[in-house]
Amino acid sequence: MSHVFHRHLEQHYPTAVGGEGPYLIDAEGRRYLDACGGAAVSCLGHSDAEVIEAIREQVGRLAYAHTSFFTSEPMEALADFLIERAPSGLSSVYFVSGGSEAVEAALKMARQYFLERGEPQRKHLIARRQSYHGNTLGALATGGNTWRRRQFEPMLVEVSHVSPCYAYRDQAPGETPEAYGERLAAELEAEIERLGPETVMAFVAEPVVGATLGAVPAVPGYFKRVREICDRHGILLILDEVMCGMGRTGSLFAAEQEGVVPDLTTIAKGLGGGYQPIGATLVSERIRSAIAEGSGFFQHGHTYIGHATACAAALAVQRAIEQRDLLSRVRQLGEGLQQRLVDRFADHPHVGDIRGRGLFRGLELVAERDGKTPFDPSRKLHAEIKRTAMDEGLMCYPMGGTIDGRSGDHILLAPPFILEPYQLDEIVDKLDISLKRVFERR
Ligand code: PMP
Repeated sequence: MSHVFHRHLEQHYPTAVGGEGPYLIDAEGRRYLDACGGAAVSCLGHSDAEVIEAIREQVGRLAYAHTSFFTSEPMEALADFLIERAPSGLSSVYFVSGGSEAVEAALKMARQYFLERGEPQRKHLIARRQSYHGNTLGALATGGNTWRRRQFEPMLVEVSHVSPCYAYRDQAPGETPEAYGERLAAELEAEIERLGPETVMAFVAEPVVGATLGAVPAVPGYFKRVREICDRHGILLILDEVMCGMGRTGSLFAAEQEGVVPDLTTIAKGLGGGYQPIGATLVSERIRSAIAEGSGFFQHGHTYIGHATACAAALAVQRAIEQRDLLSRVRQLGEGLQQRLVDRFADHPHVGDIRGRGLFRGLELVAERDGKTPFDPSRKLHAEIKRTAMDEGLMCYPMGGTIDGRSGDHILLAPPFILEPYQLDEIVDKLDISLKRVFERR
């Protein structure tokens, strides 16, 4: 019996022993094409020689130095790299070990900002239904994913949830994308008015929704309107780019494509590409300076923040993406993937929608297309697809629909940026076979 407390305690997991570009290899020698980068993590694949060498070199020099005593070269260099490329206004970076920690840091920074400014009543958060921002208590409270939250309620943080921007299901017939975006923005503003604008701290959203909905971008103009509303009421905008950031959608930050600058943004998965656990919160100058000129100290911190080896790995990953011009490859391969998915599945009776940006694509599965009827969540279609695809040597990231029936099961694809075009065919072929096997059984 394994002594590991696995995710599913009774499930058997193959043992991963190696990685080769976009493939993972198990102890029996089976190869799996990693079409989801784990969970949109492995942007450079699994065996990048330059990143491995950078880690080796850093460990050989200095593996770790506690940040209450020292800064380190890789941490300073990574912060410089990110801020030089981030939307203007963001001026410093707080490094953590993953996505949930990045969201927690953003929430506490937002709170401390208002305390420093003498606005202690601003503590209410607004986020969106069907969202996921992490599993630690603050991040879990922020997310509106009923399935993840339900058993831990009541949550410890005050959050209200408004509608996500989810055109496939919620844009009304005859409504233009612009009018739909306006309607959602009005809903946000109404919620702010209901709560009392002076009590609201921040609005939190993913620019392109990953895990909960499956690569759903907002309609044009939505985030611009959200930014205006936040500004009008003195509310901070926190964009969670843990999954969609770091080039996944074809630009380093997904917000660039929306033309908005957040006050805080969180990144993680693609930052270190899985070579080391690392996440970060990027902070706007007005928040940094309010804290600097106030108490001068962010009342937070973990042992492993700014870990030197993790920063060195992330810097190597990000430099590789830039030097090899992988973002234009993401845009190109992304179009190729979308086209192949449409060619193969546009007429599939159970594929309701094919969407996404860059190498971040989602397929929504429905029992019946005309009514967009989700499969009964208790059938756990997503789990069956995941198992079947693994049998076919394909890693994809299927997720269940929400228990309130507001979305269907979906499959998220987020392959490494280094993919060869023929591997796009391999993804689509293996997915096709897996879906055939699953639906034939039903
Ligand atoms: N935010 C978003 C948007 C995510 O997708 C995730 C992870 N799926 C998280 C936060 C939490 O990140 P982590 O699992 O690294 O804690």
